[in-house]
Amino acid sequence: MRKTILFILMITLLTSCASQRIRIAGPSVFVLEAGQPYLEPGVTLLPGETAKLAVSSDLNPQKPGTYRMRYLLVDGKEVVAQTTRKIKVVDTTPPALVLIGKAVTDVCPGQTYQEQGATAIDLVDGDLTSTIEITSDDVKITYHVADLAGNSASLIREIHVRDIDAPVFDAPGEVSVLEGGQLPNIVATDRCEGDLSALVTTDKIIDTSVVGDQILTYSIVDSKGNAATFTQLIHVKKSHSASTIFLTFDDGPSYLTDDFLDLLAEFDVKATFFINKKSGYDKVIQRAHREGHSIGMHSYSHVYSRIYASEEAFFQDLYAEQAWIKNLTGETTRLYRFPGGSSNTVSSFNPGIMTLLTRSIREKGIQYFDWNLSSGDAGKHDAAFITNYVLKQLGSRSNYVVLMHDSGGHESTLEALRDILSYAKQEGYSFSALNVNSHPAHHGVKN
Ligand SMILES: [Zn+2]
Repeated sequence: MRKTILFILMITLLTSCASQRIRIAGPSVFVLEAGQPYLEPGVTLLPGETAKLAVSSDLNPQKPGTYRMRYLLVDGKEVVAQTTRKIKVVDTTPPALVLIGKAVTDVCPGQTYQEQGATAIDLVDGDLTSTIEITSDDVKITYHVADLAGNSASLIREIHVRDIDAPVFDAPGEVSVLEGGQLPNIVATDRCEGDLSALVTTDKIIDTSVVGDQILTYSIVDSKGNAATFTQLIHVKKSHSASTIFLTFDDGPSYLTDDFLDLLAEFDVKATFFINKKSGYDKVIQRAHREGHSIGMHSYSHVYSRIYASEEAFFQDLYAEQAWIKNLTGETTRLYRFPGGSSNTVSSFNPGIMTLLTRSIREKGIQYFDWNLSSGDAGKHDAAFITNYVLKQLGSRSNYVVLMHDSGGHESTLEALRDILSYAKQEGYSFSALNVNSHPAHHGVKN
């Protein structure tokens, strides 16, 4: 017996002597929660130790179990000292259980609760959502889940059959209405009762014939007495419905004309095209005519020296164009715009010709149109310039005959026109194509 004890003592002393060169720092049994990183506490070596430390392990920190971390001190090929640390990976963390939807769920009276479910993710066992047990009584739903290590989690969802939610308004806080116009419809919906817009009341009647700002309060109450109010600032703006804008496009048609027609159609606006003789655009001219735009003459050739050479030359050109247009549209147009306008001085090589033509053209039953609003698009301006240039001239006059161009290179006119149209529509302006009785916007004749 004594011999045995002595022997064990000797072995222990020898072992502790040999392991002086390498000693474990930190615990000899390291307990690690599964899924957490293992932070190596390291070993202590003697000062001046020259042998190399080698560490090896079978540790899997994701999987509960007992593992070993071996620390070897190696000198050349010889292991001169070694020690071991036990690592116990344990799983004491329950799965993360999360409700889908609210923990307190209201069910509308007369409706049944629809299960929304929950999710469960475990650090060790992964997605346990499909193993969640759901039990319910009248007032609560219980969700329970356990991982393979027996760690469990539970949650309760309260169910209330009630309607305590007020209806909700869906409307902007600020609206603009044209003088004499209608207030926009207001929408109120209730979680349980659906669309209650028809039951919305207001604190006063807004008279939209009065220009100015007013605040209107809308109210709604659902059948359970849940109430909501909503205030809206209403700008009643002056309408320009008494003003008509006659858009006119000169020097076309061109590759851009179809795009102009598309845009006009989008805004449901009719305009007037004062065209020159150009081949390849018959379909575009026919489309413009078919869609309700007016087709007017702007001379066959647009060559000043030719058309203003004499009265005879002028009318020869005019009738040639009129016949050509009739052939395309089936209609004899009696609308004319002089190249350069009736106020042009480019014709002064033939003194008095404009005085003569402005009189004789009307004697032949043809109305000529100048303009009282130039878009400024004859120069190389960008869309913003053209838009501003037009908008600053728009006011409360009854007629605006607007000069624009749809000939090639007028992409910025097209771009500006979208903004001009949306602004003018918002302000209540009317649009119309010219006819022989429209305001002709005649200029003072200078030659
Ligand atoms: Zn022209």
